[in-house]
Amino acid sequence: MEITLIGAGIGGLAAAASLIRRGHRVRVYEQAAELGEVGAAVQMSANAVKVLYELGLKSTLETTGVKPRAFEFRRFDDGELLHEVKLGAAHEAQHGTPYYQIHRVDLHAALLDAVARLDPQAVRLGQRAQQVRETPEHVEVQFGDGSTVRSELLVGADGIKSVVRQHVVDAEPPVFTGQVAWRLAIPTERIPEALRPPLASTIWCGPKNHAVMYYMRAGTLLNFVGCVERPWEEESWTTRQPWSELDHDYAGWHPMVRAVIESADRDQCFRWALNNRKPVMTWSTPRVTLLGDAVHPTLPYMAQGAAMAIEDAAVLARAIDLGKPLAEALHIYEQHRAPRAARVVDESTEMADLYHISDAAEMRQAFRDRNIAASRNNWLYPYDPLTVALE
Ligand SMILES: Cc1cc2nc3c(=O)[nH]c(=O)nc-3n(C[C@H](O)[C@H](O)[C@H](O)COP(=O)(O)OP(=O)(O)OC[C@H]3O[C@@H](n4cnc5c(N)ncnc54)[C@H](O)[C@@H]3O)c2cc1C
Repeated sequence: MEITLIGAGIGGLAAAASLIRRGHRVRVYEQAAELGEVGAAVQMSANAVKVLYELGLKSTLETTGVKPRAFEFRRFDDGELLHEVKLGAAHEAQHGTPYYQIHRVDLHAALLDAVARLDPQAVRLGQRAQQVRETPEHVEVQFGDGSTVRSELLVGADGIKSVVRQHVVDAEPPVFTGQVAWRLAIPTERIPEALRPPLASTIWCGPKNHAVMYYMRAGTLLNFVGCVERPWEEESWTTRQPWSELDHDYAGWHPMVRAVIESADRDQCFRWALNNRKPVMTWSTPRVTLLGDAVHPTLPYMAQGAAMAIEDAAVLARAIDLGKPLAEALHIYEQHRAPRAARVVDESTEMADLYHISDAAEMRQAFRDRNIAASRNNWLYPYDPLTVALE
């Protein structure tokens, strides 16, 4: 099949590789003139890693990724361990692959490489999709420079502000969640040895605020994401804010958090608004569908947004190969994916309430009631996009 994909992010590239491997002719159109990702990390659990392995990324994950021993949920001030989700060997034994933390630049580059090895012509840069026209015979995309491209299928992997979504769902803008995210990447060697966080994904939970810290690039860099309830601001991964505001947001936090804040480059503190969308249950027309943040952007509090995009990519490629008429295949794809993606969006929103409780006793009880470890090990991580039944 001739397939047009809009967006060369993690989701778009995973879909391109999955579809080309199955013999389809894919062209990916990306608005950016140069490809890349921001200087931050991403966590990948077995449900996504299985797909990445199939696409040939195992050696990248093994060489540059970090395998944390656990998620550790701790009180923001005294560091009390509130809850633990075992990762490391336990995750691998239970779910079939390791759990990795990897620099976004490294993951994106490896996916791009996987696509280029399959078809060096697949990705076209500097092409911003503007409009979609669909007929029973084909679908046409018009780009910012006036050029058009026609194909049998169009897949919108164009992120949270998706243009393709406007053709398929609606033109509503994403919704501000009331939370903003600080982002820092700090050379580990800069942090005093005694105050370096453990080899875990540590979530420091506090009043109206939590901070996530974990290593990337074989442990040489520490990724910090601080999520604070605040008024609206711009949605952009590259907006810088004064270090003094970061310092203020984490005043009085645990010495390990303070050591990270103190080690930050004063002019490299990024902060932006976290938006999402209310889940939808249908997102295809007969010749157009969506994947990843274009359809189900989520708060990052379960570390699953990119994982959902990668799952979408694998399931979409399998659905198309079921031998059904295209519209039916797209229907099977979205009906299979929608409930799972909606659950991630909804539970990620609930996590904000859990992580941001002020009272220590109430927080302890809420973590016991919620039992995140049991929940994620039961429904989230065991899912295998490569083999799950689609019909
Ligand atoms: C702080 C934070 C931490 C996170 N941590 C994790 C984590 O640990 N694990 C995890 O799984 N997920 C995580 N996520 C979520 C993850 O980052 C996203 O879900 C994922 O990057 C979405 O990928 P995508 O390919 O769908 O969209 P995007 O990455 O947004 O890619 C969309 C691409 O489309 C292009 N594009 C947009 N419009 C057009 C157009 N009109 N024409 C052509 N091209 C266009 C864009 O330039 C971009 O390259 C996190 C998110 C945040 C905010």
